[in-house]
Amino acid sequence: MKKICLLIIVLILTGCGIEEESTKLTNKKWVDGKIFYYISPEIKQNKTLRDRIYFVLDEIEDKTSIEFYECDEKKPYVVVFIADEKINSATLGMCKNPVVRLNSFSTKIIFHEVFHVLGFPHEHQRPDRDDYVTVNMEDVSPTIRGDFEIYNEDMFLYDYWKYPYDYKSILHYKSNTYGVSMVKVSTGVEIITNNRPSVLDWKKLQEVYGG
Ligand SMILES: [Zn+2]
Repeated sequence: MKKICLLIIVLILTGCGIEEESTKLTNKKWVDGKIFYYISPEIKQNKTLRDRIYFVLDEIEDKTSIEFYECDEKKPYVVVFIADEKINSATLGMCKNPVVRLNSFSTKIIFHEVFHVLGFPHEHQRPDRDDYVTVNMEDVSPTIRGDFEIYNEDMFLYDYWKYPYDYKSILHYKSNTYGVSMVKVSTGVEIITNNRPSVLDWKKLQEVYGG
């Protein structure tokens, strides 16, 4: 069931007290697991595309305590879904101007980007990723470097080390994404990813936001 945002947004804004920060990358959990969003008109007019977004949000609501509220206008701290001619991308965690840019409208991509908005970095950016995958950094151009750098543990909203490294995470690139060679350390075998969040993805989301 789709929920409308109405006045509850005021409570969130006064409750979180977060000011827009500098360009420094930070990662914050959404207050009380309540997320407000706005779907731009070009997506909203296309039933197939908007229903894919609703499908993803509904599944996340079903499996966790997260609640999504749809707003009819853009406001600070409201996640804006927009179509993009070139890229799929999303901001990380709670911030003043959160956005999901969609070039592909596959449910796989929408899950991936929405998980970013919920505060989940790529699995292959875990501090211990070099123990599990070999990335040929020579393949990584400056424009995509940020997607392959190793984060420190402060960037994770959950204790990453409590979970086994997850090649099947919705947040793991497959081998040769952006033409970058990335294979399993032990075997050199290519990484094939899932179309849906893995069992561990859901467990982590439930650890952060409740299940
Ligand atoms: Zn990503």
